[in-house]
Amino acid sequence: MYSDRINALPPYLFATIDEAKAEIKAKGVDVIDLGVGDPDQPTPEHIVDSMCQAVRDPSTHRYPSYTGMLEFRKAATDWCRESRGLDLDPVSETLTLIGSKEGVAHIPLAFINPGDVALCPDPAYPVYKIGTQFAGGEAHIMPLLEENGFLPDLDAIPKDILGRTKLMFLNYPNNPTSATADKKYFEEVVQFARDNDIVVVHDNAYSEMTYDGYKAPSFLEVDGAMEVGMELFSMSKTYNMTGWRLGFAVGNKDIIAGFGKAKSNIDSGAFNAVQMAGITALSSSQQCVADMNKMYTERRNVLLKGLDEMGIDVKPPKATFYIWAPVPSGYDSIGFSKLLLENAGIVATPGVGFGKHGEGYIRFALTQSVDRLSEAVSRMSELNI
Ligand SMILES: *Cc1c(COP(=O)(O)O)cnc(C)c1O
Repeated sequence: MYSDRINALPPYLFATIDEAKAEIKAKGVDVIDLGVGDPDQPTPEHIVDSMCQAVRDPSTHRYPSYTGMLEFRKAATDWCRESRGLDLDPVSETLTLIGSKEGVAHIPLAFINPGDVALCPDPAYPVYKIGTQFAGGEAHIMPLLEENGFLPDLDAIPKDILGRTKLMFLNYPNNPTSATADKKYFEEVVQFARDNDIVVVHDNAYSEMTYDGYKAPSFLEVDGAMEVGMELFSMSKTYNMTGWRLGFAVGNKDIIAGFGKAKSNIDSGAFNAVQMAGITALSSSQQCVADMNKMYTERRNVLLKGLDEMGIDVKPPKATFYIWAPVPSGYDSIGFSKLLLENAGIVATPGVGFGKHGEGYIRFALTQSVDRLSEAVSRMSELNI
């Protein structure tokens, strides 16, 4: 009954974990879920209030524009100017997205012919690879290795692959490794993309989730990036708005136009009331973001201290709400996550679920309170690993 593209899909990792989790819960275990990367805190109140007001305005009830409300795109470009010094045209260089997942999944349709290659990091958010395959393209894996700071080694990509490559996905601050990329690396990427005629898509979903004074650069801050690339920003993690489905793409106008053409034939834009709430989020005080980062810093420190006491050494991540920890010797990532679930009631994501180069690691999401994380730490220490 199903198409080859559906039949070829591996079981969705989080569905498999959910099943195991439900089984343990049914036994009465108090489960601490550090699995999925979904903020546990509510959307800030001023954003919710703005949505309530907007939804009462009947003009928001009609079809939105394909490219997004101009006011939202202006708020997005103003925010990019204030936060990153970018000078972007809200009309030709900006597109509203129904969340950046939607963007990632649809981008290959605009740039990939059957047989073309998209360079996809591994371990990674699975949608880069799947979106490429759905468009009939081939995903060529770029391993993210600890010895390279979890950055793709551009020199390691074979020449014959580069001849067929149209697209490259990057994501820094990175899910799942929590690694960051500096502007110097982005400069190398721009040169590489120019040399090989590749469109770069930088997924900056964790752009604001940063700690210890670190500020994540935009890919577009680098000279020449506007010629080769596009960047995706998301409201989801920044403003605890994962359920609202809102993000935006900014970048090269021809790339934005091609992507917009694909999108206009698939979806009908983001709900205007949601975009109005998005305007409020982007144009109000960013104190809520600072407060959240402070909260995640405390959580990060609790978990890192606990892991350290168990002999698991992890450098404090400068960004994202993930801890990417090596699994103790004697375990693979699935074996260790099973142990955590069955013997400590802790859900964490096995690294191999993000791709084969994630083997040997486990991902903890900092989406529980300091109290719950302390409880997780004390349960883990009792495992005597
Ligand atoms: C969470 C996440 C997204 C999804 O963002 P939405 O805007 O909610 O679709 C995209 N990319 C990465 C790497 C993520 O971790």
